[in-house]
Amino acid sequence: MVAGEAAEAGGGRVSFPYISICFNIFSPPTGNSPTLVAMHAIEKAAALVEDARRICVLTGAGISTDSGIPDFRGPHGVWTKNPGAERTATIQTYVSDPQARERAWRRYIDGGMWTEREPNAGHRALVRLEARGKLEMLITQNVDGLHARAGTSEDRLVEIHGTMAKAMCLSCGRRGPIGEVLERVRAGELDPHCLVCGGIVKAATVSFGQTVAVEDLERAERAATSCDLMMAVGTSLAVIPIAYVVPIAARHGAPVIILNAEPTPYDDMASVLVSAGISDALPRIVG
Ligand SMILES: [Zn+2]
Repeated sequence: MVAGEAAEAGGGRVSFPYISICFNIFSPPTGNSPTLVAMHAIEKAAALVEDARRICVLTGAGISTDSGIPDFRGPHGVWTKNPGAERTATIQTYVSDPQARERAWRRYIDGGMWTEREPNAGHRALVRLEARGKLEMLITQNVDGLHARAGTSEDRLVEIHGTMAKAMCLSCGRRGPIGEVLERVRAGELDPHCLVCGGIVKAATVSFGQTVAVEDLERAERAATSCDLMMAVGTSLAVIPIAYVVPIAARHGAPVIILNAEPTPYDDMASVLVSAGISDALPRIVG
């Protein structure tokens, strides 16, 4: 049985006559306002956050769309509409084809890397959760670096697919701000190599064909087993193995909040399902 708000609405148990009247008279809902069912779910989620002390959060592309960063796998995602682009984003192509590297750096320079984008109210809400002492771990599937830019601490953040904010050498592993490499590209180096060992340099993201770091998976799993509330935000929970943190937390007794526009495979585990705009709903949930 789905434990979410939609099921409750279907059962006719949501009764908001007064709120409904208030809204009709004083505050007509706009196109972006959450529905009454969503508002009820937001209240329930906020109560769970209030009671929790060690919250594990998993975020996906949905939290960054309000920062102007495109979704990759959603119904209108970059890769959904152009599967060929996904095939060329492999590590094998990057390593073997200098022209693929030149194209990648050129795309970043031309703004395809979102280095100028700013965190939104959703990212900032999770910084507040940490300031309240309630954040056990923030695990993100996003590579946009916006959680770190918003101010989430490094020791509370697992960027499971890496980050575009840094570049790394594929030979010696040296990492540094990607801005330094982009400066070299702007100065005329089409395919800049590592200044220490001469190896191929790439954005510090996990491309297709690369494996995620074992220590990151371990940090994520530890947080999932020890948290007292799991919150999945803006993710379709389709990318494994990281999506498994949700059932792991549920199995260890943590209630689960899922805040996402589309259904996920784990909706039936959720104590609360919230279907509302993230940068609007998350600040209300976090308080
Ligand atoms: Zn190197």
